[in-house]
Amino acid sequence: MKHIVIIGNSAAGMSAAEAVRRNDKSVKISMVSEEQYPAYMRLKIAEILMNNLNPEKLFLKPNEFFKQANIDLLPGEKVDRVIPKKNSIILFDKTKIVYDALIVASGRSANISKDVKGANKHGVLGFRNIRNARDIMELVPISNTVCIWGAGIAGINAAYGLSRKNLEIKVITSKERILEGILDEEKARALENSLREKGVEIIFNKSIVEIFGNGDVKAIKLDSGKVIGCGILILDKNLAPNTKFLENTEVNINFGVRVDEFLRSSVENIFAAGDVLSRKASQEECFDLPNSWDRAVNQGRIAGENALKFVQSRTDQMTSYEDIVQNRELRILDLELEAGPAASLAENAADQSDCNQEDI
Ligand SMILES: Cc1cc2nc3c(=O)[nH]c(=O)nc-3n(C[C@H](O)[C@H](O)[C@H](O)COP(=O)(O)OP(=O)(O)OC[C@H]3O[C@@H](n4cnc5c(N)ncnc54)[C@H](O)[C@@H]3O)c2cc1C
Repeated sequence: MKHIVIIGNSAAGMSAAEAVRRNDKSVKISMVSEEQYPAYMRLKIAEILMNNLNPEKLFLKPNEFFKQANIDLLPGEKVDRVIPKKNSIILFDKTKIVYDALIVASGRSANISKDVKGANKHGVLGFRNIRNARDIMELVPISNTVCIWGAGIAGINAAYGLSRKNLEIKVITSKERILEGILDEEKARALENSLREKGVEIIFNKSIVEIFGNGDVKAIKLDSGKVIGCGILILDKNLAPNTKFLENTEVNINFGVRVDEFLRSSVENIFAAGDVLSRKASQEECFDLPNSWDRAVNQGRIAGENALKFVQSRTDQMTSYEDIVQNRELRILDLELEAGPAASLAENAADQSDCNQEDI
């Protein structure tokens, strides 16, 4: 029996698995996910901060779904390495899984630059998943001030989510406005005002150069020299593709997995979809299809269909990916905003010399 393995079980991974199963009832499908949870609405994790929402309320599918669809979900398992020459992946617990086709749908994570001193403190957290939201909630009772570094979607969601908790919230961004490259100036300013009304302070044109604390975060220092005390530092910076497990393989990586029009990587039986895709159009230029849930779903479907055609030896029938996401819908808790058209977002992104952006 042919085996399709998917790394990641979020927007792109779930969509890929469903596309495979829709078109073939017998191929074996395994989904490996570092997270403990089945696929959920990542866009709504701020509700955990705001309303202490039970994560189960965010699940995309009922628990029975995976059994009924005959999809082997491996939650809480992190992929350590991919060995393309042996068609296998190795998990951190040393389990080896052999595939006929692999779909990489592992998304992006926030990272702290090596130039920032004291980065490994307890209390420095991303805001990408349910675990991050729960970790933040655990620290809230012992923190008066929360600093958020980066004013992209995750940073602004975190600020909104925490804004009713009687905390001082400070968003620090190197940009001149929030959600730059995502919202136009008028919408961004309106959102900034709404955040200020909720008690959120936004500090523009600044960066963090040092994090103080003896084990736990106690304060941060800005490039202006100002020091701000805080017990939690939420990162929405330097989003980088989760591709460590592909390092030193034949898979071409350049700010993400490089794919052809069939969403196939430089290795013929490895496909990729979603935020993990490359953000580089060329060696110099940041291309960009900004990350978006809907786009990840569309790409997952095409990668799933093409991986299936590959294992069925029907590569001549593979489907080309067309970017059909025109506007990105943004959901920031109770706010529904429409971001600008994909084309102008792409221009904005191309202006930036560094593909790692503050936004999503
Ligand atoms: C707070 C927040 C709000 C957002 N709001 C919006 C919005 O309003 N509108 C919008 O369009 N987009 C929004 N986004 C962006 C959107 O969620 C992403 O574009 C989308 O989730 C990308 O899907 P994906 O499947 O490519 O990757 P992800 O959703 O990032 O999923 C990748 C999965 O792969 C897993 N993984 C990574 N590495 C490994 C490994 N080594 N082994 C096993 N598993 C691994 C990860 O744990 C994760 O579960 C938001 C994102 C965040 C964080």
